[in-house]
Amino acid sequence: MISFKQVCFSYEQEQPALIGIDLTIEAGEFVTIIGHNGSGKSTLAKHMNGLLQPSSGRVSVQGLCASEKENLWRIRQWIGMVFQNPDNQFVAPTVLDDVAFGLENLGVARKEMIERIEWALDQVEMWEYRDRQPHQLSGGQKQRVAVAGILAMKPKVIVLDESTAMLDPIGRQELLETMRKLHQEGITVVNITHYPDEALICDRLLVMNKGELFLQGTPQDVFKQISKLRSIQLDVPFVVELADRLRRKGVPLSVDIWKTDELVERLWNLL
Ligand code: ADP
Ligand code: MG
Repeated sequence: MISFKQVCFSYEQEQPALIGIDLTIEAGEFVTIIGHNGSGKSTLAKHMNGLLQPSSGRVSVQGLCASEKENLWRIRQWIGMVFQNPDNQFVAPTVLDDVAFGLENLGVARKEMIERIEWALDQVEMWEYRDRQPHQLSGGQKQRVAVAGILAMKPKVIVLDESTAMLDPIGRQELLETMRKLHQEGITVVNITHYPDEALICDRLLVMNKGELFLQGTPQDVFKQISKLRSIQLDVPFVVELADRLRRKGVPLSVDIWKTDELVERLWNLL
């Protein structure tokens, strides 16, 4: 779906923001990206739909080069982006109008537009709220409307750049649930997050550090390398951290514990 070949990028600074990124994201994958502030996650995301062009190397989406202007229109329809601040993304007076906004810009016929809006709002469980105004919604609901606005454009990929960061725990859970559901329906999902516990919800985890792709693999493969993650002071999910500390204190726990209830179960058995 998306391919990066030796991608480098600098924002007129000495330190490059991306260094030699080689990466392939397959159709239908759920990919999560973690890393410190300033490690290059957003810069990486903006290369996926041609918002930024590599200084060197190449990004392609379904084989189309993302540096060529004539491809950008299609690529941006395929790859939708949801950002961090729920309030900056709401552009219309009501939920319905907000989802319609992008479609009007695409020139979709009215009948199809209505069908797509209903379908998209239904996907994020916001159809009932279609006549509400932004101030009547929670942050999580606004983010789901932002997702619906993208879904209505029938994308292949949704990239969420710290979209759960400003949400309360319930809003965050709801948005994660939406991501899971879209993934199950075959949409490629890329979730950029600074919450370590979200790192366990994906097919593949990418760890960015100082502009480089530091580690990648299944979350299990990545968190087995806990000392490597510690070397860059990256937080790991609570259950992984706790199991590791207990292990180092001599508690005989295997290295394949990824869920809180599994850990409780093993400890209970040991006791
Ligand atoms: P992350 O999303 O992981 O926090 P970013 O991709 O935003 O990281 O930033 C990577 C690096 O690029 C940082 O050093 C940051 O300061 C720099 N940077 C990001 N956006 C800009 C910009 N618009 N202009 C100049 N430098 C930027
Ligand atoms: Mg960022």
